[in-house]
Amino acid sequence: MARKEEVGRANLKTFRSLSVEEEQTQHFLMREREESIDLPCLKFPDHPEELITHPVIKSGWLDKTPPKGGRRFQKRWVQLDSEYLRYFQNNKEVYSKRMVSVWCINTVQSVGDQRFELITQSRTFLFRAETNEQRADWVVCVQKVLDSRQQNGGRSVFSKRSVVSNEGFLDMMSPRIKVYTVIKDHRVYLFKNRQEYLSGVGITDIDLRKASLKESSRSFSIITPYRTFSFLVEGEAERRRWCVCLSQCVSCTVPTVRVCDRVWSVESNRVCADCSTEGTGWASINLCVLLCEQCADAHRCLGPSVSKVVSLNGQLWTEELLKVFLLLGNSKVNEFWAANVPDAEGLSVNSSSSKRLKFITYKYLHGTYRKQHHLTGQQEALNNALCAAVQSDDLMESLSLLFSGADVNCSSGIPQFPSPLALAKHSRQTEQVELLQHHLRSDVVVSEVTSARSQSGYLFKVASSNRPITEHKARADFSQRWCSLSTGVFSYYKTEQMTSRCGSIRTSGIICLSFNSPGSHGYEHTFQLYTDEGRVYLFGSDDISTIKEWTRAITMAVLPPALSSVCGLCDRLGRLHCAEGNSGVGWFCLSGYKLQVLLRDNVQNIDLRKLHTLSVCDGAGGVMLGWRGGCVHVCSDHRPHFPGWLSSLQRAAGSGTETLSQQQLTESGTPISIQRCIDHITRHGLMSVGIYRKSGANSRVSVLMDSFLRDARSVCVSEEFEVDDVANTLKRFLRAVRHGVFNGAENTHRWLSATDLTDRRAKISQYQTLLSSLPDVNRETLKVLLNHLYCVQNLCEVNQMTTRNLGIVFGPTLFQTDGSDPRTSTVVEEMIQNYCAIFNVSEVELQKQLDATSLILHKLSEQQASVKQPSHTICAVYLERKDEGADLLVQVGVSVTAAELVLEVLQMRGIEPPAGETWSCWEIQEKDDLERELHYQEKVLPVYFSLSPESHLLVRKSNYSVDIKQYLSDKVEVCKAGALQVCEVKGDKNRNFNSRHCELNNATFRLYRDMQGSQVEREWTVQELKLFHGYRRKLRPLTPWGLTLFSDQQQWYVCCENEDELIAWMATFLSLKHGGNLWME
Ligand SMILES: [Zn+2]
Repeated sequence: MARKEEVGRANLKTFRSLSVEEEQTQHFLMREREESIDLPCLKFPDHPEELITHPVIKSGWLDKTPPKGGRRFQKRWVQLDSEYLRYFQNNKEVYSKRMVSVWCINTVQSVGDQRFELITQSRTFLFRAETNEQRADWVVCVQKVLDSRQQNGGRSVFSKRSVVSNEGFLDMMSPRIKVYTVIKDHRVYLFKNRQEYLSGVGITDIDLRKASLKESSRSFSIITPYRTFSFLVEGEAERRRWCVCLSQCVSCTVPTVRVCDRVWSVESNRVCADCSTEGTGWASINLCVLLCEQCADAHRCLGPSVSKVVSLNGQLWTEELLKVFLLLGNSKVNEFWAANVPDAEGLSVNSSSSKRLKFITYKYLHGTYRKQHHLTGQQEALNNALCAAVQSDDLMESLSLLFSGADVNCSSGIPQFPSPLALAKHSRQTEQVELLQHHLRSDVVVSEVTSARSQSGYLFKVASSNRPITEHKARADFSQRWCSLSTGVFSYYKTEQMTSRCGSIRTSGIICLSFNSPGSHGYEHTFQLYTDEGRVYLFGSDDISTIKEWTRAITMAVLPPALSSVCGLCDRLGRLHCAEGNSGVGWFCLSGYKLQVLLRDNVQNIDLRKLHTLSVCDGAGGVMLGWRGGCVHVCSDHRPHFPGWLSSLQRAAGSGTETLSQQQLTESGTPISIQRCIDHITRHGLMSVGIYRKSGANSRVSVLMDSFLRDARSVCVSEEFEVDDVANTLKRFLRAVRHGVFNGAENTHRWLSATDLTDRRAKISQYQTLLSSLPDVNRETLKVLLNHLYCVQNLCEVNQMTTRNLGIVFGPTLFQTDGSDPRTSTVVEEMIQNYCAIFNVSEVELQKQLDATSLILHKLSEQQASVKQPSHTICAVYLERKDEGADLLVQVGVSVTAAELVLEVLQMRGIEPPAGETWSCWEIQEKDDLERELHYQEKVLPVYFSLSPESHLLVRKSNYSVDIKQYLSDKVEVCKAGALQVCEVKGDKNRNFNSRHCELNNATFRLYRDMQGSQVEREWTVQELKLFHGYRRKLRPLTPWGLTLFSDQQQWYVCCENEDELIAWMATFLSLKHGGNLWME
């Protein structure tokens, strides 16, 4: 009874609201003309559901207010799908009055009685349902769509990033209105203006695939089955521009259902391509097969990205598409798709639906039965073959290439026709164009098909582990396993005959594949697989080719296609978390010094020796790589694959006294250490008497040498070094580097014998031959060095260093000998004398270089300056306290220290701190009320990148600096021991504070189990720890004097008795960590 009443009331209300609208028609129409557009259909679709591109999630009648504060509600048919919310004049209309991209809806919320509003960036839409229940239902549905936006990852036309074919204003006739028009992906979208386009609110969209185009001299029309849209255009060029774009999208549809008759005129098209059932009512238009009803269902299960299934009665059939199916036909196409079907796996009329799905998945998604194209695996050759094939009428070849891995978007290398599609159009191969177009829409298939490699055979395996395998595994630790890789799963069995497997790894779960150097374990050749669950698998074999086959297959299965050229030839590959990558993931392949990085869509090739920065962010545990033209911040995820990455990257990035090729290099490929020394001497030492002959101060030389060996790229040779210190460092480096410039003692003899040649031309030619046999880095180093020595001797009247003198100094140095053989000096002398001839340098050029010394010096210093700051990041920093919107944006280069940042911020705000006041940069963790003063020499960027959303950087006065300095001033030995209240927090498990004995000395922090200090529980070096002032509020500590120690994954809260104790512990810790050097003097 009550229900009935309710319905009755609702009906009455509806009736009233309608009648109110009628009364107000005049006024209402005025508004409508102003605010919304009517695009009524002349004919309504018979099957409206066929028009829908995205499934409708909810539809129904709602009242809607007109915009601009109008109060009158209008009845509208509202329809919501995963991309848009649209409303229509009524439930029959095809073209909406308004469509709102769900990407642009910020909020949906209930307001007042039965109403809810959608808030977009630019406008708010107010709707009214008939009941509160209906209203709640709408709000929930819209909210669900909003929530799933991220997961779907799709983008609407309104997103600024999406590619549109054409856009601009057009004058629409009937109704006469200016519309901002956008063509994209076979659809025309209409907007009132560009602002609406950008803010995600449109009028309607028109599907061009069911439309035809009519051009006249000053206008054009898009004719759909339901209505005609006509547009006036100014000028011939403008009309052409629009019509060219449109004509690529529209197609005159074949008007009748003659499709079946024509398709079936090819005999093999009458039986299903998959199960041979008679009667094919369906087609997969990208896979080019005709299907029975049941197989079509299975195809649909794979999704439209794999198989695009359409009915032969559908409206999509164009003349071109028909021709594709007439030219190919099921039997021809199956010669490709079903070339190797084992008898037991084939389908028959009676096959179950699960068997169908399995077979179809193998056949098309994995390409298991495909006929291999002879170019498979050779990406470039496949692409070239595709470019050739699309210009011919050989559709079968194009199909085979496309599904063997040829890139449908590859570059043809011809500027006018850059892609296969453009080539096909140019050659008027309309069927090829059709085939390619269906491929552009289903490129996922290509990548999935090509990445499905299968492999099987015996390997030796060690029990998997959840930490990196660093220890040697003996042969006895390995057991033989039959391994098989197919359809995205790597499985292993006790024997080939066993059917129940011992274990398996999803290839999508493999995050890293790494190779060990031969002989690392009991089996000569081994590799490791790391999974996203944090497990490590070690496999081995004595046969290198077995290992190569396996790793190639795994690489192909794991890597995204953009990196598929790697083919298992690298040392280590996998994915890592990094902010710059696609959804936070970057793919990395390391081979030798070469690192290939796939971030977003492009692959960058980096020579790690030429990195500008490689800084390990302590605490956060990530690493930052900066190179010419880019940088990436890789975050540690505390899984076992990460430490291996870090050490491999560091090793490949060069350092120490390894060979010249293993050094950190400049862009031109000389070791940075050598280049920095030469630059310094060129700027300050060319006129210095006895340069390279005089020795510098040994202590300073050692300091400089050590810093070069540790990390050359971070060394900036400052003024504190005398030119002789630097000259000596260069010599010491050349003497220490493994194998020397001449690449080993075994080559020395050949170089020394060159001095015996008397004929100058023969001598030069011999030196050139010897040079060409050197590694690139050695050759480049010699060239740079000899150019430099040539410049030095050119000023010998000032610096007294003649060619002879330089020979005496550099001969034994470069040959790494004691100087007893005078020929070493002769080689250097002769190479300086014949520098131009040997290195093919024009004498005129060299003279110019010498003449313009001053200019060059100037330029060098400029270059130097630019090299020092390879990349900048804009950091938000607060001054004194965090106020919303009060952040200062500071450009921070990779080498900027906390002290430099503080100075910059103070200068920006014109603040000059009073004498004796220390200002510092602080890392503040708002949520937990923790703060840490950055050491003044600490690099800012790594800290900045490690900040969580609830943290920020702050510049303010250092509150304890005076107390800490005072505390340390009279300490002879810096150490501290005593009782502290300690609380360990692991994850969310809080514990209580307990009294413990703690010790800080010898750069170590020790935590004892008890008060007596008898048993050490934990011990860290101070370098492993970060010290924060404060602790989590909710811990309810005993005193307010708290400190927090961060180790890699754990946090320890300690609580001091009073403020003096707090200062004492802090002072001791910081002093030990920074060797007493706490603040800039
Ligand atoms: Zn079938």
